[in-house]
Formats: sequence, structure tokens, C-alpha cells
Amino acid sequence: MENCLFCKIIAGEIPSYKVYKDENVLAFLDIAPCNPGHTLVIPKKHFQNMEDISEEELTKLILGVKRVGNLIKNKLGYQGYNIMENNDPVAGQIVPHIHWHIIPRQDGDGIELWPQSKYEEGEAEEIIKQINT
Ligand code: AMP
Ligand code: ZN
Repeated sequence: MENCLFCKIIAGEIPSYKVYKDENVLAFLDIAPCNPGHTLVIPKKHFQNMEDISEEELTKLILGVKRVGNLIKNKLGYQGYNIMENNDPVAGQIVPHIHWHIIPRQDGDGIELWPQSKYEEGEAEEIIKQINT
């Protein structure tokens, strides 16, 4: 898609450090890593987010995420990794071409996940009701 940063990376118009590619996906280093080796996995076709991508294309993408996760963990000697997808601008999605972050992790790296809270009395039941009606 025209003017899409990640489509330009796929087309080779913008340089990237390529980690992995196959016929469906491209993985490259995030330019601003949480930890060294932080990688983005994207479909070669342009889809905006989880609502836009078909189940078939998403399956191919997540298989790519699995391969790249193994690669990062084993080759770079990390103990684990987080995978995440910021879906929509309100969730922090800056680039509107769906991408999964693979963030390699090691003990004591200081990366903290989002804060958690508690449900008020009856709140969880109300949410389940809303979801199921
Ligand atoms: P998100 O906030 O989930 O949309 O993530 C977009 C990510 O793309 C950010 O983590 C950026 O650091 C990364 N990014 C932006 N431009 C580039 C680029 N040219 N090459 C590699 N990563 C990039
Ligand atoms: Zn795109």
C-alpha cells in the first residue's frame, strides 16, 4: 500500500535489518529495541490490524512469529520472549500495517509489563453478561 512504512520496507525502498523471510512474512529488527534483537514480524501483504486480516493470512503470520521467536531465543541465547501486537492507535499501534513484536527477555532486564488492577464486586459478572448478549 502506498505510503505505508512497512510496505516500503518489504519493497526494499527503506532499509531494514532482516531477521527472517519466507513467501508470506518478513521479520526485521525494530529500530528502537526494548532489548537487543527485538524483532517485528509482518505479513508481506498489507493488512491494517486483527479485524482486517483474514484467518488464513493470520495463521501464516503467527507461524512466522513462532519460527522467529525460536530463532531469537536460541540463536541470541535469551531465556524467553514476549510477543505482542498493538491493535489500533488507542492500544499504541503507530504503524497501520499489522505487526507482531517479539521482545527477547532475560532475568533482570528491567522490562515491566502493564499495570494490573482488581474487579469491583459484580463487575466481572457484568462484563461476561455484556460479552455474551
Ligand atoms: P507499534 O507501536 O506497535 O505500531 O510499533 C511500531 C514499531 O515500529 C515501533 O516499535 C518502532 O520502533 C518501529 N519502527 C518504526 N520505524 C521503523 C523502521 N524504519 N525500521 C524498523 N522498525 C521501525
Ligand atoms: Zn503496509
